[in-house]
Amino acid sequence: MPPTNRPPADPTLLIIGAGQAGSQAAITLREQGHQGPIVLLGKEAHPPYMRPPLSKKFLSGELEQARLFFRPPGFHAEHRIDLQGNVEVASIDRQASSVILKDGRRLHYDRLLLATGSRPRQLAQPGADHADVLYLRGLDDAIRLRQQIGRARHMVIIGGGYIGLEVAATAAQAGLQVTVLERAGRLLERVTTAIVSSYVEQVHRDHGVDVRCNVQVSGLLFDGPRLRAVQTDQGEVSADLLLVGIGGLPNDDLARAAGLTCDDGICVDAACRTSDPVIFAAGDCTRHPNALCGRMLRLESVQNAVDQASVAAVNMAGGQAIYSRVPWFWSQQYDLKMQSAGLSDGHDRIVECGDRSSHRFALKYLRDGQLIGIDAINMPAEYLAARKTMAARGELASVPQPCPAPGLAATQPSPTPL
Ligand code: FAD
Repeated sequence: MPPTNRPPADPTLLIIGAGQAGSQAAITLREQGHQGPIVLLGKEAHPPYMRPPLSKKFLSGELEQARLFFRPPGFHAEHRIDLQGNVEVASIDRQASSVILKDGRRLHYDRLLLATGSRPRQLAQPGADHADVLYLRGLDDAIRLRQQIGRARHMVIIGGGYIGLEVAATAAQAGLQVTVLERAGRLLERVTTAIVSSYVEQVHRDHGVDVRCNVQVSGLLFDGPRLRAVQTDQGEVSADLLLVGIGGLPNDDLARAAGLTCDDGICVDAACRTSDPVIFAAGDCTRHPNALCGRMLRLESVQNAVDQASVAAVNMAGGQAIYSRVPWFWSQQYDLKMQSAGLSDGHDRIVECGDRSSHRFALKYLRDGQLIGIDAINMPAEYLAARKTMAARGELASVPQPCPAPGLAATQPSPTPL
C-alpha cells in the first residue's frame, strides 16, 4: 500500500485541561458527530466546573458545590468522553504525536487541544506561600478561602481587579473588615474607564471597604505562625487573612517546551490552530487575533473559553470555523450586575444613559461614531442591545450553531451572573 496523508477516519482527539474550554470542546466534538475517541485530561480531581461562582455565590455559601459542575455524574462516560481527572501532562512529543503524563504513561493523539487555562500571578514577597495567604483559581482554593473567611476578622486583598473586588464584596457582606490595596491609581484599571473605576470604588466604600490605590506592598508581617499585617509604602495594614489577586499568567509552559510559538500565551490563528497544524489551543492560555480591535489579545473570560473551544472543536473534527466574536464579561458585586461587551480601548466619545445614583446606568464607548464597547450596571437590556449592534458589525457567523445530538443540550455560558 502506498503511504497516504489522509487523516484517519476516526482520529483520536486529545484535550489537555478539563476546565471551561476543554469540557466545551469535548461536548462540541460529540455534538458535531465526531465518532472517534475523545480523551479529556485534567489535573484537578473534580469533574469540569464553573469558576465564576467561586468568588461570588459559592464563596458566600448561596450556591452549593454540586451546582458548580457543568454536567451530571455519568455524562462523560455516557457520551464516550474519556474524562481522566488527577492527570497531569508533563510534556508533548510532537514527533511521536503523543503526550507524556507525569505518571509516566504515554498517550497518542491525532489532533491535540491545549486548554490549560491560566494561573494566579504570585506575590514576590517572602511569606507568600504561608497558609494565611490565599490565591483563588480553583474549587479547592475557594473551599479554603470560604473556611478562612469564616474565622477571619480583617482581610486584606492585594489587587483591585474583578476577582479581588468580588471577594471583597463577599467578605464585607460576611462582616469582615476588608482593605483593598491597589498598586495602580484606580481600581479595574486594566479593564475599564476611570468613570466605572471611581463608581465601583465608591460602592465598595459605601459597604465599608477600605480602598487604597497607589499603594505598593513591600512585605508580609507574621506574629508567630499567624499573619499579622501587610507592610506597604504607606505603613502597616492589619490582616489575619490575605487574598492575592494580582492577575493571571497563561499556562503555556507545555506549548513552549514543545516548540510552539508563544508570546505571553499560546499564539493561535482565527481557527484556534497553533504553529503546529494538528495542535489547537483555546481559552485563557491563548493569544489570538481579535477582529473587533484589530490586534492579538489574551482574554480570561467564559465567553472566550467557550467560543474558542467550539471553533477549535469544529476544526479538529475536520470542519472550518473562524473565531471572531465580540468579547463579553460579567461581574457581580453586592447587588450590582456589571456587564461589559467589546473593548473601551481607543474610544473618542462616551455616551451615558441611566442614573449612577440609582445604580442603573450604562456607558457606551464610541470611536469615529461607531460603538466599540459598553459597561452596563444593572441595565441588562441596554447591554444586550449594544452587544447585538457590535456583533452585527464585527462578528462573522463564525461559531456554527450545531444541532445537539440526542441528550446533548448545547452548552452556552450563563448570561445570568452566578
Ligand atoms: P480553566 O477553566 O482554568 O481550565 C484549565 C484546566 O486545565 C484547569 O483545570 C487546569 O488544572 C488544567 N491543566 C492545566 N495544565 C494542565 C496539565 N499540564 N495537565 C492537565 N491539566 C492541566 N469569567 C467571566 O467571564 N465572568 C466571571 O464572572 C468570571 N469570574 C471568575 C471568577 C474566578 C474566581 C475565576 C478564577 C475566574 C473567573 N472568570 C470569569 C474567568 C473564567 O472562569 C476563565 O476565563 C475560564 O475558566 C477559562 O477557561 P479555560 O478552560 O481556559 O481555563
